[in-house]
Amino acid sequence: YCRPFATPTNMNMQFTDLALHPAILAALDAQGYQSPTPIQSQTIPLILQGSDVLGGAQTGTGKTAAFTLPMLQRLLEQPKPLQPRQVRCLILTPTRELAQQVADNVQSYGQHLPLRYAVFYGGVSINPQLEAAEQGIDILIATPGRLLDHLHQRSLDLFQLEILVLDEADRMLDMGFIHDIKRIMAKLPETRQTLLFSATFSKEIKELADSLLKQPVLVEVARANSTAS
Ligand code: AMP
Repeated sequence: YCRPFATPTNMNMQFTDLALHPAILAALDAQGYQSPTPIQSQTIPLILQGSDVLGGAQTGTGKTAAFTLPMLQRLLEQPKPLQPRQVRCLILTPTRELAQQVADNVQSYGQHLPLRYAVFYGGVSINPQLEAAEQGIDILIATPGRLLDHLHQRSLDLFQLEILVLDEADRMLDMGFIHDIKRIMAKLPETRQTLLFSATFSKEIKELADSLLKQPVLVEVARANSTAS
C-alpha cells in the first residue's frame, strides 16, 4: 500500500483548507469542531479525489467524520435524482448501536443538504424501512443481516452504488459477518469507491481489504488517548 506524505502543513490544517461545501462547514462550526483530527486531515483529501482508503483508526479518533464529510461533498458535487430502491452510498457497521451513531453523525453534518439518509438494522419493524427504500436513498447506514433481508426482498438494489464503507471491519469479522459481507459484495458494481476502517489489521482483514479495495492508500493514526497522539 502506498502512504500519503505526512507534511507539516497537515498538522495545522483547518476545515476551510479542505474543499468542503459551505453548508458542511457551517454544520461543523455548529458542532463546535475547530480543526480536523489527524485521520480527517489525511483521509478527507484522498476520498475527495476518489481513492480507495484503508484506514487504521479506533473509535474516538474522529473516523466517522473522516469518511462521512467527503462522502457528503461528493454527493453534492454530482447531484442525481434518486430512482426507486437505489442506494448511492452504503455504510456497513457491525452493530445497531454503531449504525445509529454513524447515522446521527451523517444527519448532523448533512442537516442543511438536500440528501436522503436512512439507517436500517434488525430487531425493529421492516415496514418503515420499506417505505424509505422505495424512494431511493443517498446514504444508507446498515447492519449486514437487515441489509441482506432488503436485498433478498428486492426492496433495495445496489447496482448503482458509488461509495461503500466498511466501518469497524475487524469487529464485523469477529462477530462472524464474513459470509454476509461476501453475499453483499456479490451484489455491488465493479466500479465504485471503497473505504475500509479497522482498529486492527489481522491476516483476515488484509485478505478482505485485498478483495475489496483497488490500489488503496493506507492511513493509520495512533490511538486517540495514547501519548503519541
Ligand atoms: P469517532 O471517532 O468518529 O467516533 O468520533 C469521536 C468523537 O469526536 C465524536 O463525538 C465526534 O463528534 C467528535 N469529533 C469528530 N471530529 C472532530 C473534530 N474535528 N473536532 C472535534 N470533535 C470531533
